[in-house]
Amino acid sequence: MSRTPATTGRDFDFDVAVIGGGPAGSTTASYLAKAGLSVAVFESEMFPREHVGESLVPATTPVLLEIGAMDKIEAAGFPRKYGAAWTAANGDGIDPLGFRVHEHGFGTADVLFNEREQLGVDRDYTFHVDRGQFDLILLKHAESLGAKVFCGVRVHQVDFADRDRPVLDVGMGPTRTPVRARMVVDASGRSTLLGRQLKVKVPDPEFNQYAVHSWFKGLDRTALTDSGHRADYIFIHFLPLHDTWVWQIPITDTITSVGVVTQKSRFKEAKDDLEQFFWNSVASRPELFDALKQTERLRPFKSEGDYSYGMRKVADDSMLLVGDAARFVDPIFSSGVSVAMNSARLACVDIIAAAAAGDFRAHRFDTYVRRLRRGVSNWYEFISIYYRLNILFTAFVQDPRYRVGVLKLLQGDVYDDEEPPALIAMREFLAAVEADPTHLWHSKLGNLRVSQESRCLF
Ligand SMILES: Cc1cc2nc3c(=O)[nH]c(=O)nc-3n(C[C@H](O)[C@H](O)[C@H](O)COP(=O)(O)OP(=O)(O)OC[C@H]3O[C@@H](n4cnc5c(N)ncnc54)[C@H](O)[C@@H]3O)c2cc1C
Repeated sequence: MSRTPATTGRDFDFDVAVIGGGPAGSTTASYLAKAGLSVAVFESEMFPREHVGESLVPATTPVLLEIGAMDKIEAAGFPRKYGAAWTAANGDGIDPLGFRVHEHGFGTADVLFNEREQLGVDRDYTFHVDRGQFDLILLKHAESLGAKVFCGVRVHQVDFADRDRPVLDVGMGPTRTPVRARMVVDASGRSTLLGRQLKVKVPDPEFNQYAVHSWFKGLDRTALTDSGHRADYIFIHFLPLHDTWVWQIPITDTITSVGVVTQKSRFKEAKDDLEQFFWNSVASRPELFDALKQTERLRPFKSEGDYSYGMRKVADDSMLLVGDAARFVDPIFSSGVSVAMNSARLACVDIIAAAAAGDFRAHRFDTYVRRLRRGVSNWYEFISIYYRLNILFTAFVQDPRYRVGVLKLLQGDVYDDEEPPALIAMREFLAAVEADPTHLWHSKLGNLRVSQESRCLF
């Protein structure tokens, strides 16, 4: 991959300049290069680089197939992910309201992706991925399709003085070069370059989570389950602490990614000591603590903060935002990479049409904006309901009337329904529980309460 952009004799260097080479950026570049546009990706890091967000949902499959990268992802041998499982906070399984209780005493709920057919998805699994390798494969794939990829090259800002020719201020070390494009796609992830520059970023009024995570070698992934066949699922272990959960994601046969997600205020109470915080949290599930204590930690603990935000604007003349640069919601249902890749897919439909018309004005991206908002808003409400009443989620997953509808959301199939029926049913049920102090589940309501306004804020 190149390190320095060369300039051309035209009044622009590229049709489209993409900021960031994560899944959103590389997918955008792949679609556009395939369509014959000249496209450059500017990525500040040298790949491979570590990245959080390792468990995919099946909605990534149609995108991988469309851009022609699926064979490369299959060849990389990432663990296949056939399903997802949740284990109850009180591992003794005394909580039969939402969870099935197994003979070994563990309360679990789980789904298999093959229980529902999904348009464009031709296999019954997706993947857990080492993001260093996954992102590298996708970026090289974009390059193989004709995109120019510049690594170790940071975009400092974009000058929109001439709305028809944005100019990127691109830097490699102390050297700065102006790069002119017909349009800019911001795929800079949670660093949200344009969102910050244009002052359109809005922190989420309700969610303010924090995560601490690492990789562990030799974890017995079945320690909290009744059967070995789920060992390669993603596991979400609820902790008996407010709004706190643990992810368990297979990375290889022997390496497992484990992270604790909590409210930032709880983390502050731990006085920002990552290691202490991690172990104290995990200790609330003794069987998980014991299993983890027998492993070898392979990476330093890392934290992720500053998440959950939206943008007042995700597209304007000659620019649009994709992936985490556009919106970030809590990762409890492994939505991020799928949103990154599907937002790129949806954006590229509009960008290719705009290029054909020779007009990159904001209104050209209206369809993209509408579909992205719909999809992310569905994810957002699903996540909000989950945090407000965990038990409702697990009960719905196990109720034959709603299971397929909930599974549809878990598959990442969220862009077509204005109001997915399963969400409507969950919303109504939640409202009934909130309104009735005598309801069996009323005392189980969580603190996070998301208003319709915050749902529609972005
Ligand atoms: C704690 C946590 C757990 C998560 N778990 C999951 C999960 O299990 N499954 C899932 O699907 N998602 C998960 N996510 C979300 C997932 O990490 C993201 O949604 C996904 O990485 C978004 O992809 P992206 O391409 O938009 O951004 P990124 O993958 O972050 O890529 C952005 C790229 O832009 C580059 N960049 C940034 N600024 C500049 C600049 N100025 N110039 C040039 N390059 C720049 C960065 O180096 C980076 O490579 C999780 C997130 C968090 C915080």
